[in-house]
Amino acid sequence: MKLFKQATLVIGAVVGKAVDKALKRPYGWLLVLDHPITRSSDHPIRKTASKFKYLWLVFFLIVLGTLVRTSHADGPQSPLLIEPPKSPQPPSPTSTSFPGVDPDGKNGLPRSQRVVNYNIDARWNPANKTIAGQETLIYRNLTGQSQDTFPFHLYLNAFQPKSTWMREERRDRTGGWEEYLAPRYFGSNNVVAIEVSGMGDVTDSMKFIVPDDGNPDDRTVFQVKLPKAVPAGAEVTFKIRFEAKMPEVIARTGYKNSFVLGGQWFPKVGVWWHNAWNCHQFHATTEFFADFGVFDVKLTVPKEYTVGASGEEVATRTNADGTLTHEYRVEDVHDFAWTADTRFVQVNDSWKAPSGHQVKIKLLLQPQHADQAQRHLDITRQCLDHFDRWFGPYPYNTLTVVDPADAAAGGMEYPTFITGDTFAYSPRQFLFLPEVVVEHEFGHQYWYGMVATNEFEDAWLDEGINSYSEKVLDDIYGKDTSIVNNFMGASVGEFGYQRMQYLSTPNADPLVRRGWEFMTGNSYGGITYGKTATVLKTLESLIGEQKLQEALHVYFMRYRFTHPTREDFLRTVEEVSGKNLRWYFDQAVYGTQSLDYEVARLSSEPLNSDTGQPGMYRDQVTILRKGDFIFPVTVEIKFSNGEKLRELWDGRDRWVRFVYDKSATVESAEIDPDHQLFLDANFFNNSKTVTPNATAAKKISNYWLFVSQWIGQILASFV
Ligand SMILES: [Zn+2]
Repeated sequence: MKLFKQATLVIGAVVGKAVDKALKRPYGWLLVLDHPITRSSDHPIRKTASKFKYLWLVFFLIVLGTLVRTSHADGPQSPLLIEPPKSPQPPSPTSTSFPGVDPDGKNGLPRSQRVVNYNIDARWNPANKTIAGQETLIYRNLTGQSQDTFPFHLYLNAFQPKSTWMREERRDRTGGWEEYLAPRYFGSNNVVAIEVSGMGDVTDSMKFIVPDDGNPDDRTVFQVKLPKAVPAGAEVTFKIRFEAKMPEVIARTGYKNSFVLGGQWFPKVGVWWHNAWNCHQFHATTEFFADFGVFDVKLTVPKEYTVGASGEEVATRTNADGTLTHEYRVEDVHDFAWTADTRFVQVNDSWKAPSGHQVKIKLLLQPQHADQAQRHLDITRQCLDHFDRWFGPYPYNTLTVVDPADAAAGGMEYPTFITGDTFAYSPRQFLFLPEVVVEHEFGHQYWYGMVATNEFEDAWLDEGINSYSEKVLDDIYGKDTSIVNNFMGASVGEFGYQRMQYLSTPNADPLVRRGWEFMTGNSYGGITYGKTATVLKTLESLIGEQKLQEALHVYFMRYRFTHPTREDFLRTVEEVSGKNLRWYFDQAVYGTQSLDYEVARLSSEPLNSDTGQPGMYRDQVTILRKGDFIFPVTVEIKFSNGEKLRELWDGRDRWVRFVYDKSATVESAEIDPDHQLFLDANFFNNSKTVTPNATAAKKISNYWLFVSQWIGQILASFV
């Protein structure tokens, strides 16, 4: 492992954080990914800051590259040998096969249960930034009981001064949110009328509900009560007329000049899940959860607009009023997004899976980024290839990749539709953009798109597994060069970044907390993205990297199109690895214990005839478990005669002492000598030497560990 490879990125991150802080951009460089908090990054100050976000990285890479060019050899990569504490074997994962459904779509069967079927006719009015929509929703009542009350999301109503989303933004931000009180950032979705086939107009029964926080001013969820219950197994058809007002780009939706991104733009029914409606309000830290089905969407826009959307364009119609109607269809997805702009440069490409399945790629670029078309296409095709090989097939016919006109619309995932993020000055050496963002958002096609876990309640299953899946970048660009490839001697890989996020707020919340119940937005981000990826990276040391990859493959294939739970995932990992990992999950996933081991003391006491044998020493090494997280560790001890040995400790007691009578003194001790324990919150205290100056290089044998530790600790002071 070369020096600084991961550290460089981490340094860039913290410097960026400092710059961001100075510029009052509270969420730092996370801007480029789809961290919900950062979606509201359109404040002018933050926009200025975003223009600097690559420059500081470039600057520090130059400094680092000129300062450090040394390299160290890797240590041996061996798994931990101690069997963890035992607990009863968990039950096998549940079966996911539904009658009449085939996730492979063979024999004409649908891939999902298709609970919903949306037929939407929408017209975009660029002059007043509104969408006039007529939505027909056919809902299949597969809840197993009759239903007369149905909840719906109206996400755009989050962009109102008194909404819960805005409350939480104000609570967590250190400033800058006042801008959102400007009316141009207001969004809304007004249901003009709801009719139910066979029951007539039910608009009067509409009622806003606030299941999460009781905020009487939040209008992001409404429910409608029908005069007659819909029997189990029956279908009900809603006809909803709505008028949506798009905000100026905020939280990955809205307009910017001629550009518009239509995300979360139509009334969307909640999910019946585990015997209750699951239809949460729109929070600053939460994403989405919806049932699978078929979308047939007509989008009418002025004819000079280029349009991209989820699914396949099946027809185009020219209208007498100078507009074009684009018809899209997509099956077995749970959302539909679209974009339109007069300035898009469109590039078409395709990718063919080894199975023969063909995917049409549609790339829509801002004209100033037209020279980056090939880079976008390359990473898109490589992602399709890797995810197909590693996790399972991408079954859809299309993938639309959008380069949005504003960073606040960038880095977002919708089914078969992603937005990237790039920068006019983005030389190929800095692989950070656009490749990292496109890869991350593409990864969501699998975890958010197809596996479709509940992002309100278990965001880690999507964002965290997806962050871990960024190892695809390591495979494409090299394990230690996946972000920056040998720029003046400096290279940057993937996991330093994840660990840096984890260290910023390692233990305030467990992974499994509901999105809006985290202590802060920063804790949500650090835990959901960085800690989950670090938990999975550390899991590699227990079951092996290949086993974990196999487990993710099994998890994907088994649970795609089904909305699995956290336990479905954890049990799959245990099943595939053949190991009982409950002790680890209880702490790393369900718990908030901190993991920190320390070499507390080294000593060598000369022995004589009274105390032992002359010429011998009593060498003692004391290892302390400083945190509450119990994890078996390896300790490597070196002696003055060159002897080196490894001890294994189960970590269950608070400390352990290794005692030797030898003709040599102890020279150094290092915990986790193979550097697999990414969850260890402090790498500095993992080793100790008797003569610090002489063995400084060995004390932290991988320098990037040292730097990432240093950066992580500084970062923690910023949040
Ligand atoms: Zn994401």
